[in-house]
Amino acid sequence: MLSLGLEDKVIVVTGGNRGIGAAIVALLQDLGAKVAFTDLKVDNGPSGALGVAADVTDLDSMTSAAQTIEAQLGPVYGVVANAGITKDNFFPKLTPADWDAVLNVNLKGVAYSIKPFISGLYERKAGSIVAISSISGERGNVGQTNYSATKAGVIGMMKSLAREGARYGVRANAVSPGFIDTEMTLAIREDIRQKITAEIPFGRFGKPEEIAWAVAFLLSPVASSYVTGEVLRVNGAHHT
Ligand code: NDP
Repeated sequence: MLSLGLEDKVIVVTGGNRGIGAAIVALLQDLGAKVAFTDLKVDNGPSGALGVAADVTDLDSMTSAAQTIEAQLGPVYGVVANAGITKDNFFPKLTPADWDAVLNVNLKGVAYSIKPFISGLYERKAGSIVAISSISGERGNVGQTNYSATKAGVIGMMKSLAREGARYGVRANAVSPGFIDTEMTLAIREDIRQKITAEIPFGRFGKPEEIAWAVAFLLSPVASSYVTGEVLRVNGAHHT
């Protein structure tokens, strides 16, 4: 019987309390991994995983979460930088606060989610990092100049990390989802949602589980051992 080789691997998922993050946590548990998730609040998060409250914008908070996770579960193998936010508006209307919030969580937060673990991964010469980018970072989206900038930035970050980590056997990749049914996209007005759906060749939004499988593939030391610095699109042919 073949497996993805994630059994007993310790994997951390940021923003794992709900949405895509919660689906990733659930799938990784089903695949036998020892999963921890971080979030601002971890009250109603996925069951069976270790939830640690931490803010990705705060390096001290993430460092302390990393210590808790490794003390309880052991050395980390995989990091999934999933936490993300939107503050959408047309460019002329975006405020400095909208820019700061989105850059802090989606860009700096990705770096701070990885930083506490990276030396350990390099020392053990094994590991896989996956950051969640977005179709908006690849092709742009009206009302999302701030968000798109961060999601494009995350791709650059993973590509550089892939080159830095290669000599240590540590891989770094991005998953780029199209429009996925979560609380984040519930905010989209119904008429706009219908317009977007009409543009998607698959004729529907994606499901969080469909992103989770792409993440599991990129984490797998078996299935993707030579894949690094890549962007895996999961978007129903919305952008190819
Ligand atoms: P959700 O809004 O449903 O969930 C995001 C999670 O991130 C929440 O649990 C949220 O916590 C957490 N979070 C927000 N800020 C922080 C922070 N500072 N520190 C720690 N955790 C935080 O989003 P999705 O599940 O839809 O999105 C997950 C990722 O996928 C994001 O990076 C998003 O940009 C990306 N993405 C989503 C798409 C979609 O269509 N849904 C499309 C493309 C990419 P809290 O519950 O406390 O707010």
